[in-house]
Amino acid sequence: MSTTYDVINPATGKAVKQIKEASVEETDAIIAKAAEAFKSWRNVTPYDRSNLLRAFSNKVREHREELAKIEIENSGHTRGNALWEADNVANVLNYYAGVPERLYGRQIPVAGGVDITFKEPIGVVGIIVPWNFPMPIAGWGFSAALATGNTVVLKPAELTPLTAIRLGELALEAGIPEGVLNIIPGKGSVVGNRFVTNPLVRKVSFTGSTAVGKSIMAGCADQVKRVTLELGGKSANIIFADTDIEAAANAAPGGVFDNAGQDCCARTRILVEKKAFDKFMEHFEKAVKSFRCEDPNLDSAGMGPLISKKQMDVVTSYINNESDSKLAFQGSMTPSGDGFWVPPTVLLPKDTKAKAWQEEIFGPVVAVLPFEDEADAIAKANDSIYGLSGSIYTSNLGKALRLSRAVETGNLSVNSHSSVRYWTPFGGFKQSGLGRALGPDSLDMYTETKNVFFNSEN
Ligand code: NAP
Ligand code: MG
Repeated sequence: MSTTYDVINPATGKAVKQIKEASVEETDAIIAKAAEAFKSWRNVTPYDRSNLLRAFSNKVREHREELAKIEIENSGHTRGNALWEADNVANVLNYYAGVPERLYGRQIPVAGGVDITFKEPIGVVGIIVPWNFPMPIAGWGFSAALATGNTVVLKPAELTPLTAIRLGELALEAGIPEGVLNIIPGKGSVVGNRFVTNPLVRKVSFTGSTAVGKSIMAGCADQVKRVTLELGGKSANIIFADTDIEAAANAAPGGVFDNAGQDCCARTRILVEKKAFDKFMEHFEKAVKSFRCEDPNLDSAGMGPLISKKQMDVVTSYINNESDSKLAFQGSMTPSGDGFWVPPTVLLPKDTKAKAWQEEIFGPVVAVLPFEDEADAIAKANDSIYGLSGSIYTSNLGKALRLSRAVETGNLSVNSHSSVRYWTPFGGFKQSGLGRALGPDSLDMYTETKNVFFNSEN
């Protein structure tokens, strides 16, 4: 029995659209359809598969305004971000459209014959997407999976299914055959869990919280099902006194408050060299107070609302926990009313054991602590179960290189907060994940290596 529910606009708290969520039986039927489509999709010529992905990319680009509008309404993303996200899907599709014609194996010297390897598709791939970046995370998964010859069943987050549903329609309009890319809205515990347990799904690519990721990994063990995990983060922004402190302070809000801090790469722990701490905080306060939290439809918006009332309550509980962390200052916030709004917030944790320093809050909250020297900065940065992203601000090249190697994290930027370029690999160390998305590395996540020996002696 399938049921329906309302998708909510987080800026206003009002219903946007009713969505039907799939039952286990409906999920199984779509998985079976994807398994059937795999038989022909895997044999589409490299040339044709490339062209279909390019056509899909062009379709997405033509609909960027429409997709962005849907995302602003469903997810509260700022207009600037939503347009970037739609373009990111088009760009990722275009990048992986180059793959079918270049999915090389190897020829390895052997006696008495020829040995070659093939990168074979895995089969039906289940992609489970969180609510914080509905478009890019869907696109990173399905672009690489389809390019390598797999078919896809994709479950968007219950809170944010609208752009994924539209992308599925655009794929069909672009000529991607029926059954190759299937969007299945529904509950994680129903649809997502079925990707784990249905043996026709041969791989699960999960992005979301570390807690759910662990249960997915445990579930996949039963069938030795392939799994990649993109999980939580608590990334450090390490600022040395030798850098331009004012510039580092001005850049810091963008590194953490973008998407209202609902970003796995958010630099939520700022570490400042002790002798520059006061100077940093002075400039940082000005920068935070000028970071614009407002109606996401405005071009000037730096951040919009949080995704849900539940998320707002969780985030607020960290802000109000005075025995854990002291409130240093907050930014301004223009909206009021029924949406899920929290202003940019800066906390001073009591020490490195504080919850606000250790736990992923997933909202516009940053914690700041001082460090003594290089060794202390490394120790504090690595004192986390996570290792997804991070930044290092210094004008000393040697120090930048030493820190880049010592910080245990998958994606670092020096003198910048950028983390994601679609042609470079992205993923986490430690409990931030397993495997890599994007760039050339992602292809290994969606293929099996087959080795074949041809005997030339008979
Ligand atoms: P979540 O609660 O783990 O949910 C993620 C997805 O998994 C949703 O589609 C959810 O479905 C589904 N799900 C929940 N329980 C499931 C189960 N038992 N079996 C299968 N699927 C299940 O995460 P979230 O709250 O949406 O997103 C925030 C988290 O994602 C943060 O921790 C963030 O750091 C992480 N994240 C990581 C990356 C990265 O690349 N490393 C990127 C973005 C976000 P429902 O629709 O039912 O909720
Ligand atoms: Mg959740």
